[in-house]
Amino acid sequence: MLARVGVLALQGDVREHLSALSHCGADATPVRLPADLAAVDALVLPGGESTTMSRLIRVFDLETPLRHRLSEGMPTMSTCAGLILLSRTVLDGRPDQLTFGALDVEVRRNAYGRQRESFEADLKVEPLGVAPFRAVFIRAPRIEATGPDVEVLASFDGNPVAVSSGLHLGLGFHPEMTGDVRLHQLFLRRVEEALEVNAA
Ligand code: GLN
Repeated sequence: MLARVGVLALQGDVREHLSALSHCGADATPVRLPADLAAVDALVLPGGESTTMSRLIRVFDLETPLRHRLSEGMPTMSTCAGLILLSRTVLDGRPDQLTFGALDVEVRRNAYGRQRESFEADLKVEPLGVAPFRAVFIRAPRIEATGPDVEVLASFDGNPVAVSSGLHLGLGFHPEMTGDVRLHQLFLRRVEEALEVNAA
């Protein structure tokens, strides 16, 4: 079943995710308005700046519809700032920044340093097999605690950097920047399986 996957298109790496998803065969579409959100099966929350996205979510009246879709079990793939938005607890955040709590993780913003301390690393990501995944970290959040239902798919320096919980995939790095679409593929497979189960 062809999945219609939205990319939260308020700020950040929107185009790159749309193109990775289209490349994997999804019907990929930007989500800016509540009506856009209502029309998608799943949502990618991109990297960028979580405080800015948080503000724009309020400006575009997306907070309530997004909480509603998440409570209904809409699958998500969140990266970096997107992961911060979906976390249960944000450390070193702004007091007014939104958290949606779909992922039972505690993250610390900018814990790996500033923009110029961005780095890349080859990760072993459990479901992707032996070929390493080249991960780009840009002012990345560090996942400092995970709840009991959260599965760690990859770690770096002793901390999780890729996690999965139900149909939520959370990444501290930027998978849309390297041309390696295996994580988008993994997400899409999960979304399509869920759609088939619901349609059956
Ligand atoms: N530091 C950013 C934030 O707090 C996240 C950086 C990123 O998404 N690459 O939102």
